[in-house]
Amino acid sequence: MSWTEDLQLRDIDEAFAIEHDCKMGGCPGVLRSTRAELIRRGARKGVELTPDSYLDEVEKIMACPACGGPMMTFEIEESQLEAFQGGMP
Ligand SMILES: [Zn+2]
Repeated sequence: MSWTEDLQLRDIDEAFAIEHDCKMGGCPGVLRSTRAELIRRGARKGVELTPDSYLDEVEKIMACPACGGPMMTFEIEESQLEAFQGGMP
């Protein structure tokens, strides 16, 4: 079982971004999205994602911004949103 089948959106803090990388070799396509952004992205595609959705379900709706190809969940990292919440330097 891959880790994306074992992790639900609810497990990811809203302050973190999920990074998806393009599966095509050599394509630079990368997307970073928060949980809320992923749920909105699903809604636009007619896929209802909820906090109970697993990351592998999320992965299926992702399309590379550069080539339109499939993407894979790469990692979860602290979102840059936090910088905004903390105010300008
Ligand atoms: Zn791509």
